[in-house]
Amino acid sequence: MTQHSHDKAHAAHSDRPHRHHYDADMLSVEEARERILSHFKRLEPVEVDLLDALDMVLAEDLVAPFDVPPLPNSAMDGYAVIAADLAAASSGSPVELPVAFTIAAGALPEGRLMAGSAARIMTGAPMPDGADAVVPFEDTDELERRGRGASGTGADRIGVRLAPAAGDNVRRAGEDIARGELALRSGTVLRPGAIGVAASLGRSSVKAYRRPVVAIVSTGDELLSPGEEHQPGKIYNSNAYSIAAEVRRYGGVPLMAGIARDTIESLQDRLADALKADMVVTSAGVSKGDYDVVKDVLAKNGAIALWSVRMRPAKPLAFGTLNAPDGRKVPLLGLPGNPVSAMVAFEQFGRPAIHVMMGRGELPKPVVQAVLDDPVNNYDGRRVYARVVVYEAEDGTLRARSTGTQSSGALMSMAAANGLAICPDDVAKIEAGETATVEMLDWPEDVFSRRPPPAS
Ligand code: AMP
Ligand code: MG
Repeated sequence: MTQHSHDKAHAAHSDRPHRHHYDADMLSVEEARERILSHFKRLEPVEVDLLDALDMVLAEDLVAPFDVPPLPNSAMDGYAVIAADLAAASSGSPVELPVAFTIAAGALPEGRLMAGSAARIMTGAPMPDGADAVVPFEDTDELERRGRGASGTGADRIGVRLAPAAGDNVRRAGEDIARGELALRSGTVLRPGAIGVAASLGRSSVKAYRRPVVAIVSTGDELLSPGEEHQPGKIYNSNAYSIAAEVRRYGGVPLMAGIARDTIESLQDRLADALKADMVVTSAGVSKGDYDVVKDVLAKNGAIALWSVRMRPAKPLAFGTLNAPDGRKVPLLGLPGNPVSAMVAFEQFGRPAIHVMMGRGELPKPVVQAVLDDPVNNYDGRRVYARVVVYEAEDGTLRARSTGTQSSGALMSMAAANGLAICPDDVAKIEAGETATVEMLDWPEDVFSRRPPPAS
């Protein structure tokens, strides 16, 4: 779908004068993603506590061993009655019935409801045999009787002000899930509703494909850990935290494997811990600087592919596999160091890898078409991901406004964005007022709740 949307955006702009000839030596985002994802497969199923199963993929069929609800029961607080007894009831001439007994939720009825009587019943309580409808308190004189001092368990007679039809306010046994029904199919994503269904079948745990553990290693002599005292010339390691947050958002388990200095030995040291994981994500050390060690370590301890990807931000990208002591080949995604580049590259390549490992398949990012408030420039024939806020204009159209400086080091404009507006590789500029495809970062609440920021 993402691919398709990109094609559409592409087509919409292909008649424009400023077209780029892009550099065919660089990989497109799709080519890079395809190569990367060929190294990932679904992980094994595990038994997981239902509370931890949110957004995991079910790895078994859940067949209902019983009816839910188990017995016919009341949908309202009121009186269980026999509809035929009340054919003459109306608000002008209520019909009065003796109250035979009370049924609380979780209790079984004391007996059968005899013709010409009513039973006080609570929501969810089982219907007594013989009864075929429930009249809610509001349609009786319950309140007046209570006002006159009847006890908390109700009066011994009740006036009914309407003639119910058989079946009114009664829930059938098995109305929600019938015994023997395939309630949740293997492969279902366990969203909150599905978690509720599993619980209503009595399950406290289910089989689901395991969450990947993603080790995060930052590299750089300049890095301090948040919590350490500020030092001149140093910067805090933000990448490990933004990437850990993304790993968690997409269902993985981040493993904070620390900071490596710009030496091969230091990085090898950090990677020794990281190789327990299903995937390693590094940041920095992949550009053309003197101290870019990720590629050296990959070349020494595994297999390397180092690419330039035709995207902005995040052109330099390393990918390869590391040989783990247990014989596994652990995929390593080497993100660029610039904080926005790291996040944008993780969205494009790390996120689908997590989804594949969780059994969700390669899910495309949700996209919208939005009218740009600000132009997006493409200076050198790479696909541009511009940080924007998508918002709903007064007339109901979706618009996208730049969140400010598009420097790949400027995290504030990433923090303010809910989407990335795309300028295709071969389009030189999308003007303000034109429509662009926007990949949503936050979806969907932000689109319809955020106000546009003040114009920059
Ligand atoms: P590099 O890829 O090592 O050339 O780094 C590119 C830029 O990203 C430099 O300005 C680095 O200081 C910065 N950077 C690298 N790693 C991190 C990190 N973990 N957190 C924040 N900024 C970083
Ligand atoms: Mg560096």
